[in-house]
Amino acid sequence: MRRGKELNPAEIRIVFTPSAGNVEHFAAEELRSGIARMTGVAVPVATGKTDGGVSIELETLNGKDTELRFDGFRITVSENRIHIAANLPRGVLNGVYELLEFWGCRWFFYQEQPVFPHWEHLSMPESRTVNPDLELRGVCIFPVNAEHREDLRRIIGWLGWNRFNLLMTSVCRTKKRDNGWEVEWRQVEGELLPELRKRGMILNISEHSGRYFFPVSYFKEHPEWFAMNGEGKRFATGQICYSNEGAVQTLIRNFTEYAEKHPEVEILGTWPEDGYGFCKCEHCRRPGTVLKAVNRIADALKIVRPRLTVEYLSYTSETSEVPPDILPRDNMSILVANMRVAEEWKKKSDAVGGRGVYRLHYHITDNTAERANLALRFHEILDDCRETKAGGLRGIIPFFIGIDTWWRSSLNLCFLSRFSWDVSKTVDEVLSDFCRNRYPSVAERMKELFLRLEKIPMVSQSRPPRWPLWQEWESMRTEFSGPAWEKTQHTFEGLRQTLDELMNVASEPAEHFRPVMEFIEFQRRMFEAWHYRALAVQAFGRNDRDAVRSCLEKTAEYEQELAEQVRNSAGGSGVAGAWIDYEFFLNWRLQLDKQLLEMRTTENMIPVTDENPDVELFLPGLLENRKASPRH
Ligand SMILES: [Zn+2]
Repeated sequence: MRRGKELNPAEIRIVFTPSAGNVEHFAAEELRSGIARMTGVAVPVATGKTDGGVSIELETLNGKDTELRFDGFRITVSENRIHIAANLPRGVLNGVYELLEFWGCRWFFYQEQPVFPHWEHLSMPESRTVNPDLELRGVCIFPVNAEHREDLRRIIGWLGWNRFNLLMTSVCRTKKRDNGWEVEWRQVEGELLPELRKRGMILNISEHSGRYFFPVSYFKEHPEWFAMNGEGKRFATGQICYSNEGAVQTLIRNFTEYAEKHPEVEILGTWPEDGYGFCKCEHCRRPGTVLKAVNRIADALKIVRPRLTVEYLSYTSETSEVPPDILPRDNMSILVANMRVAEEWKKKSDAVGGRGVYRLHYHITDNTAERANLALRFHEILDDCRETKAGGLRGIIPFFIGIDTWWRSSLNLCFLSRFSWDVSKTVDEVLSDFCRNRYPSVAERMKELFLRLEKIPMVSQSRPPRWPLWQEWESMRTEFSGPAWEKTQHTFEGLRQTLDELMNVASEPAEHFRPVMEFIEFQRRMFEAWHYRALAVQAFGRNDRDAVRSCLEKTAEYEQELAEQVRNSAGGSGVAGAWIDYEFFLNWRLQLDKQLLEMRTTENMIPVTDENPDVELFLPGLLENRKASPRH
């Protein structure tokens, strides 16, 4: 929107129709307080017609505007009137945020407060119609519990501002391990449900919550309701036996009871437990058994809550490889974990007039999949949004695991939101807007720097997947020493040099640059740790025990610094965090370091296990030795 005629804030009236509900009232309040923050003028909010002045009218059309899609909106500007209309109340709120952004307000990072510029006069916007390319725009947050209630409240506000419209969460997610992530919507729903409601956001209760809808306590009386392994034995820790009539009846009853008690839930997921232990009984081995059971749940839910969407997760082969003649129900949506199966599910859903397909995403804000080291993925996010739109899917829901890495997460999510609304946007446009607002004095050069940060060297910890000894990693000989290492170092130095130059000339607060610096240094430090690890591997090859030790002591120093940075993420710059995931992979690394120090080979290696407590004292031990040793 270009700047047009000037608008005196003292003349503004915010008006909504008498039928306006919760969301329109909140939209009016957001607009009123935004204008007050920018101009110091408290504009009146009223119902119905007003005389004189310029009215900003908010109106929900309930589907009457056939040119509007989903929660899109139309801003119509005439002489003395700005009319914001949408088919859904949430669309009206989107229109209000669009208007605030037109006036220069931005909220890039959820850990911060929104930024309002100061104006004496506002300018009249131009008329426009905005429809989102992707209908569903949401996140699945970890952790969700009472401890993080206030963080979550702020994040929901930020999501609404950035025109996300869905929160996926679990009523009670079984922790994978003792100190794993906790997702317990029921701990916070009293306080946070109103936050979703006033923004008209969709509550999607799903994720792995099978233990809530199918408690393991059933096992005592009904072991036959639980999955059988290959040897014919049933376990309370396995999945449900989806072909057992009693089990399915119980599941139907529990889902139905929950849906009746929770009218606020718009999408209800029926995910199996996380990826393991499907039943090997004769009937369950037939492909499509899980879908058939979920279809029966959907049939029952359709009777009590016809508008409720039943979400089916296509994830493992048991839930993805379904024969063509077994179709979902028309009140179901398919959530795909893998894009390979999206097209087939879309066809099946369309064949029954169903509620379509949307996708999970593991590489936008998922610190578990990304080993607590999220990359900035502006171009990939754009490609994924375009692919999602081209495939006729409803949207992308990323896992948002580890909210303390807020600097990286906010950036990736900002891009996801912008591209979900408009896949014809470019990275350059979105990044330019970000840099013009965040770093106005050096905007163009910061944009160039961010494009380089997207390609910053990052240690990939996901290969080789089976974690043999370091000595077996071919990359230890090539990637972290010699010419490749020199090139990587050169890249880090170049980034730091550019950043230092910009910080010297920029007029923005230093804390805006601090996360950028920490992001570069975090990657550099991790590479340093791996460089010395690679040198230790080379020393191992020469059978030089002392050199192995001194190299690993250097590795330990860097690992210690990184660990401290991650562990102390609270109040930090949002770059390092997700300690739960970081520690998990650190533990693996240390198990391998310890074996390298002990000069173990494939002959006498110890298999790497999850959270091996034996390495707890390994780092401090190495560092202590380094301090005590006169050689250093
Ligand atoms: Zn079975």
